[in-house]
Amino acid sequence: MTPNKAKLIDGKHFSNQLIRSLIPDIKTILKIIGRPPTLAVILVGEDGASQVYVRNKVKQTEAAGMVSVEHRLSDQTDEETLLSLVETLNNDDDIDGILVQLPLPKHINEHSVIQAINPDKDVDGFHVINAGKLATGQKGLVPCTPLGCLLLLRDTLGDLSGLHAVIIGRSNIVGKPLGQLLLAENASVTIVHSKTKNIEKLTSQADILIAAVGRSEMVKSSWIKPGACVIDVGINRITAPEKGDGKYRLVGDVDFAEASTIAHFITPVPGGVGPMTIACLLRSTVVAAAMRKGVEISIK
Ligand code: NDP
Repeated sequence: MTPNKAKLIDGKHFSNQLIRSLIPDIKTILKIIGRPPTLAVILVGEDGASQVYVRNKVKQTEAAGMVSVEHRLSDQTDEETLLSLVETLNNDDDIDGILVQLPLPKHINEHSVIQAINPDKDVDGFHVINAGKLATGQKGLVPCTPLGCLLLLRDTLGDLSGLHAVIIGRSNIVGKPLGQLLLAENASVTIVHSKTKNIEKLTSQADILIAAVGRSEMVKSSWIKPGACVIDVGINRITAPEKGDGKYRLVGDVDFAEASTIAHFITPVPGGVGPMTIACLLRSTVVAAAMRKGVEISIK
């Protein structure tokens, strides 16, 4: 049997460090504006996974010494009511960040709701103003999952300049913004997607391979250049009969067992990119508070 070679990139450990590193800035903001950075989270409906995400976000925000204000609305809530809540939060000077947990119920237009958020409070970085700032190299709020990937890559590899990064997936929330972030680091970026021909040929040239697809264990060892750094964004639930009836386990978009025999570095699922997403949300809330209130902080 081929021995396991890849070193694990421990997202849980790194995210804890990142959250701890925010504390001095949180204290500075508290001292200067008289309250800690404050995040408003809106959850519409009863989606189980969303409830878990929101609970974790609120818990970790408060554990870091910030304030979070939760708004739970029924799945019958109409778009007008939701837009009016967003407007109220936009106008509330004591709210620094607004997060609308996605997905929203089908009768609500997600795009309209995201675009209604004040871009200065858009801690998810999904507003077109923030997407435009990222694309043109201006300071703004950046989507949390791509930022988490970038911070892990910088910590693992140092300078990314000149490296070839291949991203599988071109969504607005992961693939595209991550491409922009890596370009800004002077990496050479290739983005592939469901219409790309001969994906394997492209991915196997990557120094950095990022999978953000949503397909269980799609990336096999033959897709990976020996010695590459593999970041697995995917979170997929698959049934796990070995755990008992009706049980499931989480796997990524990368076949971890195969990939870890050829990659040099790899993120696990769970415990890789996932914890970084929440840590970056906290980081963005601190950045949003500091930008709105003109407070000098250590995060650049
Ligand atoms: P989307 O469904 O929005 O995008 C998926 C992308 O993958 C699309 O660009 C699609 O191509 C591409 N794709 C689909 N099938 C294939 C294929 N067979 N070959 C190549 N490309 C393919 O997903 P997201 O970007 O929102 O999420 C991706 C994954 O990341 C999911 O598993 C999600 O759960 C996870 N995720 C994890 C987060 C975390 O915190 N760790 C946060 C956000 C997402 P096309 O554009 O052509 O359709």
